[in-house]
Amino acid sequence: MSGISRKELLAKDPVLPRVAAGDEVVWINPRRRPAAEALASLPLGMEDILDAEARLARFAPFIRLRFPETEPTHGLIESPLTPIPDMKAALEARHGIAIPETLLLKQDSHLAIAGSVKARGGIYEVLKHTEELALRHGLITLTDDYAGLASPEARAFFSRFTVQVGSTGNLGLSIGIASAAVGYRVIVHMSADARRWKKDLLRQHGVTVMEYEADYGEAVRQGRARSDADPDSYFIDDENSKDLFLGYAVAALRLKNQLAERHIAVDEDHPLIVTVPCGVGGAPGGITFGLKQVFGDRVHCFFAEPTQAPCMLAGMATGLHSAVCVQDLGLSGVTEADGLAVGRPSGFVGGMMEPLLSGEVTVRDGQLYDWMRLLEGSEGIFLEPSACAAFRGVTALWQSEPGKAYLEQTGLNDRMSQATHIAWATGGALVPEAEREKYRVSYL
Ligand SMILES: *Cc1c(COP(=O)(O)O)cnc(C)c1O
Repeated sequence: MSGISRKELLAKDPVLPRVAAGDEVVWINPRRRPAAEALASLPLGMEDILDAEARLARFAPFIRLRFPETEPTHGLIESPLTPIPDMKAALEARHGIAIPETLLLKQDSHLAIAGSVKARGGIYEVLKHTEELALRHGLITLTDDYAGLASPEARAFFSRFTVQVGSTGNLGLSIGIASAAVGYRVIVHMSADARRWKKDLLRQHGVTVMEYEADYGEAVRQGRARSDADPDSYFIDDENSKDLFLGYAVAALRLKNQLAERHIAVDEDHPLIVTVPCGVGGAPGGITFGLKQVFGDRVHCFFAEPTQAPCMLAGMATGLHSAVCVQDLGLSGVTEADGLAVGRPSGFVGGMMEPLLSGEVTVRDGQLYDWMRLLEGSEGIFLEPSACAAFRGVTALWQSEPGKAYLEQTGLNDRMSQATHIAWATGGALVPEAEREKYRVSYL
């Protein structure tokens, strides 16, 4: 608990009473500052993102060997950036609005290996740990071909070590599959809301799955305690990991190239708006940090969260970050959007986002299923419901008073027909067909 009454909490920002009532809201961040000034105040910089990018490049020959599906990209794990004009038209018709900007889908839902945005941060952190171990024990030097780390000898070496993580599902999948590929013993601690098929898939990869009745926070606590008790075990901490964050941030460098390939300008007259679904904050936070480094004030980043689990919004609007949870506001924390079912935000990410984030939008669960069907019907692309939260940024800016005021104040209004909006699709490709069918007939 934060130690202050609910009444005091709700008084900290005008949006909070509506958040506490479970309403869909649009919140504009009053603490956002000019990008250059904001970035200069943060403890991480562009050099950290470049360091992460270089590490991923060193590991590309290893990834290519271990995951043949990355052959076309030579061992880089990257997703398509896809125009979705038919979805845009469908959203306009469904909501009775005009969306003047170009709508693109960043398909992290289709990232190799993990089928979600977690293939960025999760796999990066496993590889970083692997590099540290391998350098310390003399298996490689920084200039070696890392394909050597796929040898039976290297595998035998890594099998002496354990990697553990707490997860609502997708992070466990990404860390589990990547760690098993290196050769580690892997234990994934999963919360009650994690889907059965994710647990089954991990077990097929030889991963030990521990299940907890309680929520995500409890799975993390238990996992950390078990890992701390074993000197050869490494715990991946989703709430505070700088490495996960930087792994996500690399996305911005890749996106810059993809936009250039499509001849899409991002400048004073061609703003970029990005909406990313948010759970504990690492993925959307890392992506936002990277995008602000690359595009500065030309990019406007929004997070999207479920109405019952808007943990980052609670943390940012109160300014209390990880000292507040959604239950403190009287919300359940329960949502069908399992990738976003987090009650307490990362304090580290909240602090980094305070001067950078444009705002937050929240969305009710039933709407996610509607958009999932709308996207599949219009574009033939399947996303998991959590990922569809990104479309709330696209519709809400035009539908809400705070959204319209933001567009006005930032001068975006006059430029929206030249703007690009990226809905960051965070997961879906690994969802089995039987589960998809259940989602398709879910009406809430
Ligand atoms: C994990 C996840 C997110 C959000 O990432 P966080 O780092 O938890 O904020 C969004 N969508 C999906 C599908 C996810 O699995």
